[in-house]
Amino acid sequence: MSQQIEACVDEALRTGTLSGLPDQVYIDGRWRDSDSGKKMETLDPGTEKPFARFAAGNAADVDAAVVSSERAFKEVWRKVDPAQRANLLRRAATLVRANEGRLAVAETLDSGKPLAESRIDVDAIARFLDYYGGAADKLQGETIPLGRDFVSYNVLEPVGVTAHILPWNFPMFAMVRGAAPALAAGCTVIVKPAETTPVTALMLMDIFTEAGFPAGVCNVVTGTGQAVGEPLCAHKKVRHVTFTGSVATGSRVMQNAARHITSVTLELGGKSPAVVLADCDLDHAVEDMLEAIYFNAGQVCSAGSRLVIERRIHDEFVEKFAARASALTIGHGLKNPVIGAINSRQQLEKIARIVDDARARGVNVVAGGRCTVDPDSGAGWFFQPTMLDDVRPDDRVVQEEIFGPVLSVQIVDGIEEALSVANGTDYGLAACIYTKDIKKALGLARDIDAGQVTVNQYYAGGIYTPFGGNKLSGFGREKGLEALRNYCRTKNVTVRI
Ligand code: NAD
Repeated sequence: MSQQIEACVDEALRTGTLSGLPDQVYIDGRWRDSDSGKKMETLDPGTEKPFARFAAGNAADVDAAVVSSERAFKEVWRKVDPAQRANLLRRAATLVRANEGRLAVAETLDSGKPLAESRIDVDAIARFLDYYGGAADKLQGETIPLGRDFVSYNVLEPVGVTAHILPWNFPMFAMVRGAAPALAAGCTVIVKPAETTPVTALMLMDIFTEAGFPAGVCNVVTGTGQAVGEPLCAHKKVRHVTFTGSVATGSRVMQNAARHITSVTLELGGKSPAVVLADCDLDHAVEDMLEAIYFNAGQVCSAGSRLVIERRIHDEFVEKFAARASALTIGHGLKNPVIGAINSRQQLEKIARIVDDARARGVNVVAGGRCTVDPDSGAGWFFQPTMLDDVRPDDRVVQEEIFGPVLSVQIVDGIEEALSVANGTDYGLAACIYTKDIKKALGLARDIDAGQVTVNQYYAGGIYTPFGGNKLSGFGREKGLEALRNYCRTKNVTVRI
């Protein structure tokens, strides 16, 4: 660990917080109190104690942010040379790396995730900024051959003001995943962080300002989904909404956006299968699946939450996996365990209720299954890494997103049943196939209904490959060059010579 990170960890362990965290809304290039003047608190899930305050925004703050964002779009940002936009994004990437310690520690305090995972997120946002910085001056149009008497061309225009409604599982990651391509394309950005994890989005505003982004190009309004998210999605001047969160809220976002025919990208989670075939490298699959379901304590939209396994290797896999899962360390994120906290009491209670109900109706809990605490302090919202064996295809723990460290096992006989079970939910976000047989891998990859399919490594791909879902998992793609499409519209110009 660098000295900077160690100093931030020391401070956080000593004081329960970091000094100098922003606690206002950021609109038009400056910090200001929210219209209501009221504050909310965000808690450290590893201690259950408040560690920061933030502004309770409302519709008036949203209006102010949209006015600023629209002015910045029309008068400044869309006139800035693409190469200069690229420079600013790359400068922001450098500053993110220089501020790794504060960003990572703040993210761990806010979300509950282990420090190592927050550091992965800091690295990822720097890479997003670099990557989309690299794309900003390469958004080229095309010409259309209409014959000698015409000149016809398409240009890619920025859509305008964009809103970004963030989830609490990857706060700064989700912010930059949306904001970086939007800014690269020439759009302005208004961010609404989740109410349990507002801190790093605000911290990034100081970094963006230092990087040289003009006032109004990126605004952040904190507050509840009701008070800030609703008016933002329903605002006439917002031309695209990028939302990550639950299906119910995504549907509401879409309804509000529909009022003004605003386009949306919806990333709504899933119930993603990992298909483990009998010919796979079993020890590798066990290790990889531990990460697939327990990374960020399972609070990952694309988590591998269903293990679809051939009967022949089921007993050996379950025995090995359950032993490894039960031995994973659990604790406060700053002490860098494998399993950090669940983000909120509400989410912990939801997970516990679902697992308790499953146990009561006879589902076999072969690992974990209970709430727990940080072993040193006896506090915090934690859930044991859990494995539920031999679950029926129509069971709630197979059909519903739990959003916690809970793996449901489904036993199959042969590849055809594996495919039908893998496709047997209303979601379609991600899938992984473990096999040494390339024909089986490519056949399943073709037939599984999901936005991304990986083979032999669950989280293969990363920030450069398109990411998004089918069916209830939403639509539109983020990451990779495809994300830029959300923030561009095509204009055709045809001239008779
Ligand atoms: P949510 O979908 O209600 O919240 C996500 C974001 O939407 C937050 O910023 C919230 O303030 C905002 N929001 C809420 N109501 C809104 C509205 N009417 N208009 C605009 N924005 C609004 O999620 P939650 O209640 O925090 O979690 C519930 C469940 O959602 C979880 O148990 C989990 O299953 C799922 N979830 C999925 C993801 C994902 O990555 N796909 C992320 C977080 C939660």
